[in-house]
Amino acid sequence: MRIGFIGLGNMGAPMARNLAQAGHEVMGFDVADVTVEDVTIAPDFKTVVSGQDVVITMLPNGAILKDVAGQILPHMAKGALLLDCSTVDVESAASVAADAEALGVMAVDAPVSGGIGGADQGTLTFMAGGSDAGFARAQPLFEIMGQKSVHCGKSGAGQAAKICNNMILGITMIGTCEAFALADKLGLDRQKMFDVVSTSSGASWSINTYCPAPGVGPISPADHGYAPGFAAELMVKDLGLAQDAAITADADTPLGAAAAELYRQFVEDEDGLGQDFSAMLPRFEKRSRSS
Ligand code: NAD
Repeated sequence: MRIGFIGLGNMGAPMARNLAQAGHEVMGFDVADVTVEDVTIAPDFKTVVSGQDVVITMLPNGAILKDVAGQILPHMAKGALLLDCSTVDVESAASVAADAEALGVMAVDAPVSGGIGGADQGTLTFMAGGSDAGFARAQPLFEIMGQKSVHCGKSGAGQAAKICNNMILGITMIGTCEAFALADKLGLDRQKMFDVVSTSSGASWSINTYCPAPGVGPISPADHGYAPGFAAELMVKDLGLAQDAAITADADTPLGAAAAELYRQFVEDEDGLGQDFSAMLPRFEKRSRSS
């Protein structure tokens, strides 16, 4: 396929490289000065999208996605696919899809899980929203960039799945960190705590696969001084999107709201910026009930 790829950052660059190395003809564009192995860099939006079968976007947020979509959609071929893999709000995803479809361009929102390592190794999970035809066009590309894709429903459904998943992740990580900090104060050995919880009803991905306690469980960012991994500020973004969606949908999400506020505080007022989101454990370790 002829592919245009816009947004060649931490995630986009390795995803574009994997597509090119699998034999697709990939042209890329980014507002920053970047180079990506086997990807031709275009001078502007018009060049990167003209005549392409698929245009992929991997951008920071919904406002930037809407701005970029406004600039590229008029130059995209009718019947081409706009595949947005960024994590954005459900409303922006649905509105970009409606604008695309009005111009005869198919649109699929397909945010990812798996982080920079997954992007590099081609093992991402894609959660997609859009038509059956759009999903079918995107599927061979998902197979190169990832190991699993789920068609979640209509436009915006991929973003809905992503923010619900990450709301659970933020909540379970905080719960796991709180529990480790309590266990410390009760004199419980961390390895014993892991051995029990990881095989009991307190188990979750947060403890079993991404244990926030250094030297316990599988290797995780905790074993590398909490270098991300998945940065706490990205969790703030995703929990914020979940809260925005909950307000719009009038859903009661008290734990999601508490997790969003704790991560915001951690990043803005404490030393969380640039640390992995599992660094909530040293945060709780240092605290008492009154501080
Ligand atoms: P990043 O900041 O490294 O990359 C974003 C890229 O977009 C940058 O290179 C930037 O220059 C470019 N850009 C910004 N505005 C642009 C514009 N108007 N036109 C063209 N290019 C523009 O971010 P990232 O870590 O690659 O994340 C990208 C998306 O993937 C985000 O929505 C993020 O939430 C999501 N995501 C990230 C991770 C992760 O672990 N990093 C995991 C899952 C999902």
